[in-house]
Amino acid sequence: MKNIFTILSVCCLIFPLSFQALGKTVQTYLPVKNAADKRAKEVVKSVEAQIQLLVGELPMDSRLEIRYGAEDGPLFDPGSMIIEIPYEFVTEVLARFERDNYQETGVLPYEATQDALLHTLGHEYGHAFIFANQVIVLGREEDAVDTFATLLLLHTFENGTEIALSAADLFSLEDEEVQEFEDDQFWGEHSLDAQRYFSTLCLIYGSDPERYAGIIPKEQLYIQRDSYCEEEYFRQAENWERLKSRYRVSSLKR
Ligand SMILES: [Zn+2]
Repeated sequence: MKNIFTILSVCCLIFPLSFQALGKTVQTYLPVKNAADKRAKEVVKSVEAQIQLLVGELPMDSRLEIRYGAEDGPLFDPGSMIIEIPYEFVTEVLARFERDNYQETGVLPYEATQDALLHTLGHEYGHAFIFANQVIVLGREEDAVDTFATLLLLHTFENGTEIALSAADLFSLEDEEVQEFEDDQFWGEHSLDAQRYFSTLCLIYGSDPERYAGIIPKEQLYIQRDSYCEEEYFRQAENWERLKSRYRVSSLKR
């Protein structure tokens, strides 16, 4: 989620302990340093198979490493073609959901963390996919890859909407922590957390307005001019199919 041009300071002296091949995408784990890292690694491991499915939904013809336990991130570094996910990030997300007593929603904090991790990986994979395929993006790439992540979840998993909802809730929780907006936040590369929350809800609602009628407040729907979310979902779902056919990887076993 950090600027993709962040210069990495991670040294290559530490060799990954294990990896799992996903076509040309590999997942590697750096050593854990403490009990919190160990717990975070367990969360990652528990969604390893789902990450394999995510990447398989829209594979790319470039080698990519997803590296867990890195110092910086979450981020995608185009220079090395590495997605970095720190264990601390997973730990912080889990703590955030626990602080909010997220289990009251019917989803355990552990499960919500798995969901948010899948969305984050989808977001970073979107950066990697755009870079590797030189996909033209007019507008903010950060917004484009948020949409990419949500569509990837909806297209890969039967319960993709539930996964995306937990991820959206994380944006909402982070927004609640903002006491006052400062200029830096408006100049940042990401949209505000509240906007990221509503954009994700909008796509989910637009995918099935009857089923998800309850997730968007009526006044918001009015502001969105009623059918905006539905139109936006259809527009982006068509874009998704175009992406899939234009950048199809024939050499990979699907
Ligand atoms: Zn990003």
